[in-house]
Amino acid sequence: MSDPAGETKLELKQASKEVKESENVAEKYSAMTVSKNSEMNMGELSSAFSAVPTHKPVKKQIQFVEDKQEFSRFPTKAGRRSLSRSISQSSTDSYSSAASYTDSSDDETSPRDKTQVNSKGSTDFCVKNIKQAEFGRREVEIAEQDMTALISLRKRAQSEKPLAGAKIVGCTHITAQTAVLIETLVALGAQCRWTACNIYSTQNEVAAALSEAGVAVFAWKGESEDDFWWCIDRCVNTEGWQPNMILDDGGDLTHWMYKKYPNVFKKIRGIVEESVTGVHRLYQLSKAGKLCVPAMNVNDSVTKQKFDNLYCCRESILDGLKRTTDVMFGGKQVVVCGYGEVGKGCAAALKALGAIVYVTEIDPICGLQACMDGFRVVKLNEVIRQVDVIITCTGNKNVVTRDQLDRMKNGSIVCNMGHSNTEIDVASLRTPELTWERVRSQVDHVIWPDGKRVILLAEGRLLNLSCSTVPTFVLSITATTQALALIELYNAPEGRYKQDVYLLPKKMDEYVASLHLATFEAHLTELTDEQAKYLGLNKNGPFKPNYYRY
Ligand code: NAD
Repeated sequence: MSDPAGETKLELKQASKEVKESENVAEKYSAMTVSKNSEMNMGELSSAFSAVPTHKPVKKQIQFVEDKQEFSRFPTKAGRRSLSRSISQSSTDSYSSAASYTDSSDDETSPRDKTQVNSKGSTDFCVKNIKQAEFGRREVEIAEQDMTALISLRKRAQSEKPLAGAKIVGCTHITAQTAVLIETLVALGAQCRWTACNIYSTQNEVAAALSEAGVAVFAWKGESEDDFWWCIDRCVNTEGWQPNMILDDGGDLTHWMYKKYPNVFKKIRGIVEESVTGVHRLYQLSKAGKLCVPAMNVNDSVTKQKFDNLYCCRESILDGLKRTTDVMFGGKQVVVCGYGEVGKGCAAALKALGAIVYVTEIDPICGLQACMDGFRVVKLNEVIRQVDVIITCTGNKNVVTRDQLDRMKNGSIVCNMGHSNTEIDVASLRTPELTWERVRSQVDHVIWPDGKRVILLAEGRLLNLSCSTVPTFVLSITATTQALALIELYNAPEGRYKQDVYLLPKKMDEYVASLHLATFEAHLTELTDEQAKYLGLNKNGPFKPNYYRY
């Protein structure tokens, strides 16, 4: 694979200057050049963003529940388990790898009660065990192998330092893949302080490796609720350091800053948010006229939705099912509830293993798609007595009811891939006549009085997040999008972004995809002048209108 760094044709700063000087959007596009493999360089990218006319804020009409979070209390050591995290959905709302190879150390001492020092003498971090740093470094190196697009972005922008002066506070899953993102941001000039968006998903050894490398990380696997907020606060509230950018996954950090540090929050240059819930919370703030900072909704970018939801689930559904059940799927009857992006991925994966797959849908378009893809579209009740596996992927509630669970056959498996644990009526199974037997971590046998067993995975929570890992390559796509969104917001000339929530420009999605194409040595066809004119396109993209559905 060629090193694309040498292909840089414009400098980021130069491109930003052009933005200020030129109002002619079309001119700026036509001035851009494309490298042979159709990748843009950093300068082109910034220039492209400035030119994309879709920078209008996207005002989604989403109804939000009232935010009940208690923000008025600081966590105290005394009340470590006291704080409610009622609206904190991040643990189920973003789909980074939750698995950790971290040992379940016997050391029960809370990291908050330990004083740890890294090899450079810094104590500005709080992780489980700094001595695991070397092991964590190996994990990061393994992740780097499959995140070549992000590494190539790091290489090509390293000399320009587009994030010089950026002080990024981040709240995401802390995994090896996130470490590659954080270290990319540092290489591009940013200072970072980081905390976990999920109390279970931190890879302790990776948190140690980052802390050893000088990133102030406050996170460990198995934090209490109180620890969670304490860690967020330690990231934000530190002497002589004030964040100017936020990278969030779930919106907890954003809300903490908004509520506890309004003056710091007002000075933030931009927020990048990954998850459905976090994005909803941003729109909620925006709708109420309270969002005083520009924000980017990474969740709804095409490269996130199509790749994270569809391709990621296509692989991780099998990983989750196999690890928990050891079941052979050839010839098994499976029903997939919901044929959106996630359902399409699950159905395709199981079909490929030789399973007989049924689909349930409420939407005629998705139902017809399922038919055309060769699946039988049925009502759940029609197949409930014969299926071996039910997988819910609707994002809805009570898709599988107690009545239906009563009618399932002995040994059938029930699991959920949707974002919350509302799809299977698990609460209805907690009745005296049914016995629960924990047979493995995340695997329960629910036993009926006649001896029938139903195998319930992850108590109806998201299967792949709870029981498997998520492919690194997919996380590279999301991480690259996050890095570019941060660069764009941080470097945007004043006025380009108002105090609102923005979708990523199409050009940025295309750029993220083009960076990842290099992994496959894929060669895109370039439009001829004649073809570009015929289609009414710029030769350098964007190649599709915003309403295009892929
Ligand atoms: P989507 O909106 O594309 O698909 C959901 C589908 O379910 C829709 O087609 C809808 O018509 C259908 N549906 C709704 N209620 C139904 C019902 N009662 N019975 C049958 N079908 C019904 O959404 P998506 O992108 O596929 O995501 C689905 C869920 O998975 C969401 O909750 C999302 O947050 C979550 N998600 C999970 C992962 C993961 O890694 N597990 C990744 C991305 C998204």
